[in-house]
Amino acid sequence: MTPQTPRNELHTLHWQMSLLDNLDVGLMVLDSDLKVALWNNFMVNHSGLPSSQVQGQSLFSVFPELDTLWFKRKLNSVLTLDNPAFMTWEERPWLFRFNSYRPITGSTRWMYQNVTLIPLTSPDGKIKQIGLIIYDVTDEAVSRQALEKANLELSKLSRTDHLTGLNNRGYWETCLQQEFERFIRTQQPTSLILLDIDHFKQVNDTQGHLAGDAVIRQLADIIRQMIRTTDIAGRYGGEEFGILLLNTPAVNAEILAERLRYAVETRPIAYEGEQLMVTISLGVAAADNSFQDYQSWLEKADQCLYQAKESGRNQFVTL
Ligand code: GH3
Ligand code: MG
Ligand code: MG
Repeated sequence: MTPQTPRNELHTLHWQMSLLDNLDVGLMVLDSDLKVALWNNFMVNHSGLPSSQVQGQSLFSVFPELDTLWFKRKLNSVLTLDNPAFMTWEERPWLFRFNSYRPITGSTRWMYQNVTLIPLTSPDGKIKQIGLIIYDVTDEAVSRQALEKANLELSKLSRTDHLTGLNNRGYWETCLQQEFERFIRTQQPTSLILLDIDHFKQVNDTQGHLAGDAVIRQLADIIRQMIRTTDIAGRYGGEEFGILLLNTPAVNAEILAERLRYAVETRPIAYEGEQLMVTISLGVAAADNSFQDYQSWLEKADQCLYQAKESGRNQFVTL
């Protein structure tokens, strides 16, 4: 192998520089006093600043929006420990505020970035510099965020009853179980109301199934309006609902039960020009240490509801 002539070395250096200049990642070299020594085309294009304008300038005067204290600490640790460091868009969406030009990512204004910091040492070990590599990860970040949003919507949908928008039975029962366990641990009073529309078959038979659906929706709206944000309401069956009342003793649950009963009895439901009237029956049961599990609690409330039906409907019963 023939030794390389200085002319050859210069040639190699030239095409290497040209490659680096045209890479689709940002490249920057900082001196040990944090002044810009190298700045490739990616940086020129995205910052709008030509190399001649930033060479020899302090990084912090070129990017005044940088978190100086934090980033200086990061750079100094790379210099002193001689170890590379990484920053991801999950920690900080961007280090340098560059516009995002992606047409599909119209929703995001700035370019998401992953950044690598590399300690660079001259062959004699005397001069230390830092290399920065800036990756544009906007596409990855945007699609990840879209996926997370979709998953969130999906998990919300899987907990929600489609007709009423209240919690569905599966999710509501999970809450009931959790609240029962919390009651056993904390002994905070917690109450449960089960309610069922009276003679609902008649509504379906005389007005039709769609009118029945409108009644169910209206009842769900009344429940939503009258409970507290900490209460948990769910559609337990066809026209049967459950409400969990946190930090609420039976006496307060009875007050809500009576308010609900009265509201339903007195508010006509408009459906295709007609005014429909229904009533509800309710069972109220406070959590109790004698219950083996949450099902016993539910059974107790169901017994109360049954008794309210037996005693003539349009009323609540507490045992
Ligand atoms: P009771 O006073 O004893 O509760 O009488 P009821 O007629 O309400 O009797 P029950 O609770 O057994 O009737 C439930 C009826 O609710 C039967 C079913 O056809 C109807 N139903 C259940 N789910 C839906 C629904 O999503 N939409 C409509 N329109 N009707 C439903
Ligand atoms: Mg019924
Ligand atoms: Mg029923």
